[in-house]
Amino acid sequence: MDHPMEPTTLYFEGRYRKLVRGLPQTVLFCPKCKGRGCNTCDGFGKLSKESVQEMIARVAMPRFKARRNKFHGAGREDVDVLMLGTGRLFVFEMLKAKRSTVDLQDLAAEITRRAEGKVEVFALKMCTRQRVVEVKETHCSKHYQARVRFDEGVQFDSAAIAARLTELCKLGRLALVQKTPARVVHRRADLDRERWMEITAWEADGSDFLVSIFSQHGTYIKEAISGDGGRSQPSLHSLLGAACSCIELDVLAIAEGDPTPADSD
Ligand SMILES: [Zn+2]
Repeated sequence: MDHPMEPTTLYFEGRYRKLVRGLPQTVLFCPKCKGRGCNTCDGFGKLSKESVQEMIARVAMPRFKARRNKFHGAGREDVDVLMLGTGRLFVFEMLKAKRSTVDLQDLAAEITRRAEGKVEVFALKMCTRQRVVEVKETHCSKHYQARVRFDEGVQFDSAAIAARLTELCKLGRLALVQKTPARVVHRRADLDRERWMEITAWEADGSDFLVSIFSQHGTYIKEAISGDGGRSQPSLHSLLGAACSCIELDVLAIAEGDPTPADSD
């Protein structure tokens, strides 16, 4: 039975896997009205119907009898990127919670069941505010798989590309200099970032190539492939000598045992 409890802030941490594209990690408010509702968002206040945060909240909030929530991810993948493997660490913060005794294993199972194959959450445990800071400061290398397609009209010799990809796999870490991507430079400072990536494996898939990449925390992978009009150098485009783009990206694993030292950021 429940004992009456003063409303308090509670935290649990866990991991999530995201198995569909087009799903944001957190509530995506309409930038025009900031959630109030306007013509741009059809009065909805949000640009996407659901998010990982909302899928967790709709089950967790009633169980903890909480009023509001915040989602703290250990980084975030783009809306169109899958989060596979052992998932991504997060902390879920609940404000004005009135119940603290919740079966977390059952909570995880119910969140996953109601997410209908879009999201899975697991390894839930209660934690303290301190974990929010720790999780946000996690800077880990990541394994990706990218579907790479040559741009329309680009002439290339498949055998030569295959030989070059095999060669790139033997090079180990490639030093990159990346300017802030053109797609986000309107809202972020335009900086030069030094990062590294390794091309670790590849296979042909029809006329596309599936390329495995291991990269440092904070590497812009799509730009490391396309070159972003020369803003990211070198790139798979420049290394292969043929214009190409990443048309699908999945995070296969986050190498949490191998965090990038913060001083190298
Ligand atoms: Zn709006």
